[in-house]
Amino acid sequence: MKMFEAAKTILKQLFLKPATNIFPAKYAPASALSFLDRVARKEVKLHPPVTIPPRFRGKIAYDRENCTGCQQCYRVCPTQAIEWLPEEKRIRVVISRCCFCAQCVDVCPVNTLAMTEEFLLSSYDKYADELIVVDSGELPSSKKRKKSGDTAAEKPPEQS
Ligand code: SF4
Ligand code: SF4
Repeated sequence: MKMFEAAKTILKQLFLKPATNIFPAKYAPASALSFLDRVARKEVKLHPPVTIPPRFRGKIAYDRENCTGCQQCYRVCPTQAIEWLPEEKRIRVVISRCCFCAQCVDVCPVNTLAMTEEFLLSSYDKYADELIVVDSGELPSSKKRKKSGDTAAEKPPEQS
């Protein structure tokens, strides 16, 4: 009887859509690295990921020009992902150490840090250039974290 139930479930699954998101390729490539090389050469396209939810915490962006060098982010970071550069009185963020808690973003008094929607961050080299954030240029206002009292727009939606 149990075998019959199992066979019924397996057969049913064959005709259902996959529950997982088929990303980054519709069918698993023989080599993920050569697939990504082909994406970089624009020979194939990534299969779209699921929609990123509001307030997603991806790779940090840093507006170096407008940073005041107050070091509050450096002090609050729980994983030592933020390094203080004394000569320049600026910071840099080592993304491979970051746990994406956004405490640095919350504490920055001048909104020069932000969480972006970038999540494709895997690399064989944890100190690769793309994983060290030194300057992302001026941050768009939509990316800046609202501080308390700014607006009610950042409040989580009311539960019904
Ligand atoms: S998000 Fe958290 S772990 Fe990452 S740099 Fe900021 S404070 Fe550090
Ligand atoms: S908290 Fe903001 S202003 Fe202060 S050092 Fe960090 S990024 Fe710069």
